Amino acid sequence: MKRIVLLGSTGSIGTAAVEILEFAGDGLSVEGLVAGRNTDELARQLHRFPNALFAVGDEEAHTRLLGADGSFSVRSAGHGHEAIIELIERTKPDLVVNALVGISGLIPTLRALELGCSVALANKETLVTGGELIAGMSQERSGLIIPVDSEHFSVKRCLEGYRDDTEEIVLTASGGPFYGRRQEELRDVSVDEVLDHPTWNMGRKVTIDSAHLLNKGLEVIEAHWLFGFPYGQIKVVIHPQSVVHAIVRLRDGSLLAHVGPADMRLPLMSALYYPEICAFPWRRLELEELGTLEFFPLDTGRFPAFDLAIEAAGRGGTAPTVVNAADEVAIDAFLHGRIGFLEIIEWIDEALAAHDVAPVRTVEDVLDADQWAREYLLRKHGNMKTT
Ligand code: NDP
Repeated sequence: MKRIVLLGSTGSIGTAAVEILEFAGDGLSVEGLVAGRNTDELARQLHRFPNALFAVGDEEAHTRLLGADGSFSVRSAGHGHEAIIELIERTKPDLVVNALVGISGLIPTLRALELGCSVALANKETLVTGGELIAGMSQERSGLIIPVDSEHFSVKRCLEGYRDDTEEIVLTASGGPFYGRRQEELRDVSVDEVLDHPTWNMGRKVTIDSAHLLNKGLEVIEAHWLFGFPYGQIKVVIHPQSVVHAIVRLRDGSLLAHVGPADMRLPLMSALYYPEICAFPWRRLELEELGTLEFFPLDTGRFPAFDLAIEAAGRGGTAPTVVNAADEVAIDAFLHGRIGFLEIIEWIDEALAAHDVAPVRTVEDVLDADQWAREYLLRKHGNMKTT
């Protein structure tokens, strides 16, 4: 029996994981669920998994949930960031699935690894901000991470048996909804247009990050820390069909590609049952249906958000944390109608340019840089929210 805690259970990745867990049979047991504010969905999940403790994002959500069903009170670990840690400590599961969004995923990942839990990691911000901390852990601890991001799941599969003979990792990018359009044409695009991703159905932050390709830059950083390859050996190509998720080039020049449906249930299922490989009960990809597969170079200079992430990766230390924090703040402002799509990139650029990069030795170094970027943008642009 594998005991599971699911962080972010009401989100896009979280609900896909729940779908698998609902049909998992006896092998997987849900011990804990963490959500932000969607108490209707969390209540449904708590009825479905009667052994699970829970934590929620804030006090208001907590009160609402207990109001919906008083019997939940004995299963509560509370609300807020400390409650997430308490839930992990109380349940000490075999596997923590981290599908939180943003830097809020970092400390739960670190604590889970310290406790010796495996972590199925969707939350890429963990590695973008705290990659150095995880790289500094023993292999026994850091090796407990199982990547869920589809590209990294695919890289891991390709590397199995070939790690020492691999010269280069290639991540694919769909190009997002605006591929082929010039930057200046994007100044007035609406929130709905940005959220309309052509091949993936995802949460709001990662969809917006994908639209200007910051996401792919963050994934390069994620791949660097997960697989230990230098940045010069991690490449990105545009592949609009999103069926080849990653490729590795071996020393002999040959390429191994990992091909699969654009369906996050595949990497999630693989992580939940790892190292077992199970039958995938949903729609499979048939080669005859694929038609033409295209690959195009990712031109540097055409995707400034991607370039900023790569610049931050090169500067190292706290620079990627500042990019992520500025992105989180700017996305919030964009979703509240305060700024346009291209200003997200401008705000990231401003924060990165103004930041004095410091080394990352402790989690406080990361949290300080995160707070610095948020306060910097607050000082420069005023109150972030209109509602
Ligand atoms: P969503 O926004 O859909 O979900 C985020 C989850 O986190 C929700 O359950 C939300 O709860 C919860 N949450 C937010 N704030 C808090 C908080 N303060 N306390 C507790 N829970 C909180 O995101 P995604 O599922 O799209 O993405 C999750 C992660 O996975 C991201 O790092 C993303 O980059 C990565 N990823 C996502 C992919 C995808 O296909 N979606 C693909 C690859 C990686 P609630 O909704 O109840 O407020």
